[in-house]
Amino acid sequence: MEFKDKRVIVTGGTKGLGKAIALSFAREGAWVGVNYSSDDKSASRTEAELEGLSTKSLLLKADVSIGADVEKMIGSVLDQWEYVDILVNNAGIIRDKLLMFLDEEDWDRVLEVNLKGTYLCSRAIMKTMIARRFGRIINITSPSALTGRAGQTNYSASKGGIISFTKSLSKEMARLGITVNAVCPGIISTPMTENLDQETKSNFLNMIPMGRFGEPEDVAWAVLFLASEKAGYITGQVLAADGGLT
Ligand code: NAP
Repeated sequence: MEFKDKRVIVTGGTKGLGKAIALSFAREGAWVGVNYSSDDKSASRTEAELEGLSTKSLLLKADVSIGADVEKMIGSVLDQWEYVDILVNNAGIIRDKLLMFLDEEDWDRVLEVNLKGTYLCSRAIMKTMIARRFGRIINITSPSALTGRAGQTNYSASKGGIISFTKSLSKEMARLGITVNAVCPGIISTPMTENLDQETKSNFLNMIPMGRFGEPEDVAWAVLFLASEKAGYITGQVLAADGGLT
């Protein structure tokens, strides 16, 4: 129960990686707030699973790309829980197209949710962490940021931005007891990847030295490690949980 009574928010915590991260924290005794923006059914299922783990949990519906929504969401968590120890900026979307076909809306939306959402949630939570001289911010990036991928200029720009953001914020926060790191999942079996066609899946498998897609729990453990007290001297880093891909 390494995280007993630690207070955690996971954005995009109702599906895929975010859900695995949220449940892993809850199994270790943490209080977990899971955020999502639209899919109420998945959110209710995740809420029920969290309740089954008999720890405190909150379901937080808010679009992380909208400043007023984020302020309201964090405000309601602080009203109920007083403070937050750990923020996992996981909410993310893809809208893959080759650049010549990529319209402004698809560019803007991916940057807004992935990168601006990370900025808005981090900014909203910082005051409470600074006041307590303790905090862990963990941002989810992607191999696309490190190696690039055709059809993902918008997504890789957003995820590359998250790495640079992580490094700069880690320097702002280092003397205040707050670490800021990124986790880079490889290709993980989640709703985001299940619609890939068979050819793309086999191409990916050939590129992964371990020869298998990752499971959401493979990534969750990397996040929990960086969130732990023991990782207190690690900041500004990108930890890849990718089977050797990058
Ligand atoms: P997913 O299964 O599609 O889940 C995405 C989550 O984000 C859902 O809970 C979704 O809830 C939420 N979300 C989407 N837009 C949001 C918004 N505007 N505001 C708040 N929540 C929002 O995705 P995933 O595969 O688990 O990916 C999670 C993260 O890992 C993403 O940042 C992704 O880029 C990154 N990643 C994934 C992989 C992979 O192989 N799966 C690899 C590398 C990196 P609603 O649907 O209700 O909005």
